[in-house]
Amino acid sequence: MQALPPQGRPADDVLRELESRKVQDIDSKSGRLWSLVYYHSPELLELAQKAYALYISENALNPMAFPSLRRMENEIVSIVKSLLHAPSRGAGTLTSGGTESIFLALKAARDYMRVQKPHLSTPEVIAPVSAHPAFDKAAHYLGLKIVHTPVTAEGAADVQAMEAAITERTILLVGSAPSYPHGVIDPIPEIAALAQRYNLLCHVDACVGGLILPFLEKNGVALPPYDFRVEGVSSMSADLHKYGYTPKGASVVLYRDRQLRRYQFFIYGSWSGGVYASASFSGTRSAGAIAAAWAVLQYLGESGYREAAQKAWETTQRIKQAVGEIPGLYIVGKPHATVLAIGAVPPLDIYRIGDGMSQRGWHLDRQQMPPSLHLTITAGHARVVEEFIQDLTAVVEEERSRSSRRNWQRKLGRRLLKTGLAILPERWVRGMARLLDRTAQAERPPQRTAALYGMMAALPKQGSVEKLVEDFLDKALEH
Ligand SMILES: *Cc1c(COP(=O)(O)O)cnc(C)c1O
Repeated sequence: MQALPPQGRPADDVLRELESRKVQDIDSKSGRLWSLVYYHSPELLELAQKAYALYISENALNPMAFPSLRRMENEIVSIVKSLLHAPSRGAGTLTSGGTESIFLALKAARDYMRVQKPHLSTPEVIAPVSAHPAFDKAAHYLGLKIVHTPVTAEGAADVQAMEAAITERTILLVGSAPSYPHGVIDPIPEIAALAQRYNLLCHVDACVGGLILPFLEKNGVALPPYDFRVEGVSSMSADLHKYGYTPKGASVVLYRDRQLRRYQFFIYGSWSGGVYASASFSGTRSAGAIAAAWAVLQYLGESGYREAAQKAWETTQRIKQAVGEIPGLYIVGKPHATVLAIGAVPPLDIYRIGDGMSQRGWHLDRQQMPPSLHLTITAGHARVVEEFIQDLTAVVEEERSRSSRRNWQRKLGRRLLKTGLAILPERWVRGMARLLDRTAQAERPPQRTAALYGMMAALPKQGSVEKLVEDFLDKALEH
């Protein structure tokens, strides 16, 4: 248990400690991380820091309190509206992230449809299995049911399956532009047409794509239609804190028709503290994230975003080409933009390749169905791509030469796949193994394979991987 220091500490001392703690983390500017961080350049980071600091104390809860914030917010939404071709009668809201944008789009859909179909008890949303879990999370909070539909061999939503899943309880269809796991843009025109035919709403999740697809297009990359130019798309989500390269805490939800946006608002007039009105999910909102987002949009401008998109695109093409030249590796599905997944043909094991890459200091997320490693490719990766390819080639070679691996190892691999344990991220595995084996509160956590083996033995007692992760989360957030 840690108590507050009885006496305050000198600022220098506190900062020094922060810096020394941070040394243990992955360097987010190194380009060795292929998820979570969208790094552009030191100049951009410095600008964002200054803009953030300028607004560090303000609160964007009340849009009337700080007119300069409201103005920035309106301008940011307007910029994204125009990038995604929302009509002028459209409207949007600045939110804290993709999850909140999706939550609000589903809340608006639910409350709007409640008026149209008052008899609905549990409204349904149809989403391809590739849609982001933010939909499942929002549905969990909002009392909605997500009906998952399969994707095609290319990784795109199967529109026939979506049509077959429509019932009188359906309120909304989801498409991604692109999907997070495989970077595939779903057939938005077909999904939106289906929504129109059945009088449903249609949300396009462009959280990861919203701030890069428009610039790829301007650079001449041919992309399938994905935004409000497609009739029948009623709402979209687009994250600024991904390919917008803004600090965390900035995303936009957009509606084709501003009437729909009203259903996301929350207003409570009977509070003793006065009338409480809030447009989004958050109450108090960070003004720093808004100011920094505005500043980054202004700093990069169309030319800056086009350049960043071009760099990410060329890096992606280089990786695709290299993967094509490494026997046994393949790109999963048909990714359209700068997000992709790499799979391996057995007996090569992509998770072991992931382990090998971790040992060389690269951080790649693991995915399942099929087993693969995930890459979100940004402008910041251009510098490291050749080194990445060299290491990937070398690791695959090593793995191949170990193809005489013992039979039990291969069997173990297959069992791990079945249990779902095999996709747990490296750092989780170490932490979870330590959790299970109390005697081994060790300084030296076990190797991944050994750790997973231990977890597999514990699984029957735990019930499921989800339960195991729940326990881990509870323990990891110690207090
Ligand atoms: C990142 C992402 C989300 C969730 O956004 P957060 O900002 O992490 O809340 C939703 N959908 C897609 C496609 C994403 O890539």
